[in-house]
Order: sequence, then structure tokens, then C-alpha cells
Amino acid sequence: PPRSTLFPYTTLFRSKINVFLEVGDVQDDGYHDVATAYQAVSLYEEIVATAADEITIDVTARSHVDVEGVPTDDRNLAVRAARLLAQTAGIDRGVHLSVHKSVPVAGGMGGGSADAAAALVACDALWGLGMPTVELGRLAARLGADVPFALMGGTAIGTGRGDQVSPALARGRFDWVLVPNEQGMSTPVVYGELDAHRKRHAVDIGPAPRVPAVDPDVLHALRQGDAEMLAATVRNDLQAPALHLRPDLARVLERGESSGALAGLVSGSGPTLAFLASDEASALDLQVTL
Ligand code: ATP
Repeated sequence: PPRSTLFPYTTLFRSKINVFLEVGDVQDDGYHDVATAYQAVSLYEEIVATAADEITIDVTARSHVDVEGVPTDDRNLAVRAARLLAQTAGIDRGVHLSVHKSVPVAGGMGGGSADAAAALVACDALWGLGMPTVELGRLAARLGADVPFALMGGTAIGTGRGDQVSPALARGRFDWVLVPNEQGMSTPVVYGELDAHRKRHAVDIGPAPRVPAVDPDVLHALRQGDAEMLAATVRNDLQAPALHLRPDLARVLERGESSGALAGLVSGSGPTLAFLASDEASALDLQVTL
């Protein structure tokens, strides 16, 4: 096994967008099965893990991120990750985690999940555990639906609660313009609104899919690295309820779509909006317009 180290261990973990998200019917326990295509984006969380007696955390952020709502106790997902790892390995070790956030909080981009995945990897290295990747993946799934993807990165399909991930092929690059929003949104509230929306419109929209599945056209577009093809297939079942809760977002979405974006969508449960541009120059133009 690798030796533990006294040096600080630095990791960078990416946030994500869901380029496709189909949500199944609500289950007895209130949760939903989903089928999603995740893609990691180049907006990173930085976590530095330093040997310490206890498990502690401090959270700072770049100027566009408001960290006021981020807990710095045992409710923080990164702290929970470190505790779970120590407990699973049967060791009594501490760590100080310094989290520097670039990902909007409660923005639908999996920032907390990235912190948790980073904490697992950093503590595994710092404590010299050498835990197998599959075992880290199992711990990730216990921490949250998006954590296994955060650990895996790249492009992947997520089923179950989104936690059963398998890598997908993707080629080239996609240029997204991400529009954060000051007011975060709660994922359970958005799912609740989706259930209410489906009940209200049961006659028009029919039943929710029993077994959600990712549209094969999405996978094809990702494999081709073809932005126009991808734009024609992106979809998010949480978009309608998110916009219903936050009509102000619909105006920004329309603005982006009429200003050259190939497609616009709500990222995860929102409120971050993601606009797909045909190339880097168009993305910069769109960024300036928005
Ligand atoms: P997802 O896309 O995975 O649903 P999100 O990006 O919408 O997540 P996060 O920023 O990950 O949302 O966090 C949502 C809530 O979780 C926050 O409001 C905060 O109270 C709590 N939280 C716990 N740990 C963290 C963390 N390390 N960073 C951010 N929020 C955290």
C-alpha cells in the first residue's frame, strides 16, 4: 500500500452539467429513478487536505460564489466523506480540508458532490489507504446521487438515482456558457414541483416513464463531438418545474436562445443555466451579450 504523507494533498475536481435528464415516477420512499448523461465541465473545486488531529474544514470561494449557506460542520458533504472513509478503513485519523469553491452553491452543478469526491481521494492519499477505486465508488454512492459521477469525471451515463454510473464515449470539445444565479434552488423542492406538475397535467402529458432511459441520439452526438446534433437532443425533465418555480430564469433562457446559443437548458435542478455554443468564439459572444 502507498505510504501516508505529512504533506498537504491538493486535488481539483470538476463540476458537471446534465445534458440529458429523464425522471421516472415518484416512488414510495419519495425518490425518483433517473437516466442522465453527465458531462464534467472545466469549472473546478480545489481541495487541499492536510494532516490534523480532528476532521475539520474551512470554505472559501471565488468572488462570484456565495458560500454563506455552506455548512462547516458535520453536515458538509466533504466532512461526511472524510468521516465515512476513516470509519470504513477502521482508522482514527484527522484531516483539515481547505475547500476553495468556484462552483455555485445549490446551483445544480454538483459542487458539493465534487467536494465529497475530492475529500475521498485526498484523504485516501493522505492516510495512505490505497483503497480500491470500486470501494471508493461504493462510498461515493452512500454520500449522494451525484458523488459517483464526480469521482469518475469525463462523460458518463447515470441510472438508478444517478449513482450507477458507466463511462460514455465523447469526442472533441463542447463550449458551454454557464449563467449562475444568486438565489440557489433546493433539489427536493424541484422534484416535488415535477410530481405536482405531472399530477396536474396527467391527461396531457401521460404517465412518467417506468424505466427512464437516455435517448440514444444524445450518446451519438457526444460520440461524434457534434454540438449541433447535441443541441437537438438535450433535455431536462426538471426544467419545466424549475422554470415554474422561477419564471425569471425563463427570460434569461429565451434571451440566450435568441442570441446565438444552439440550445439552452437548466442545469440539473437549477438555477444555473447552460447554453451550448457552436464554438469558442460564439461562446464568448454569447457571454458578452448575456
Ligand atoms: P446537485 O447538482 O448535486 O444536486 P447542487 O450543485 O445543486 O447539487 P450543492 O452546491 O452541491 O448543490 O449543495 C447543496 C446544499 O448542500 C447547499 O445548500 C449546502 O447547504 C449543502 N452542502 C453540504 N456540503 C456542501 C459543500 N461542500 N459545498 C456546497 N454545499 C454543501
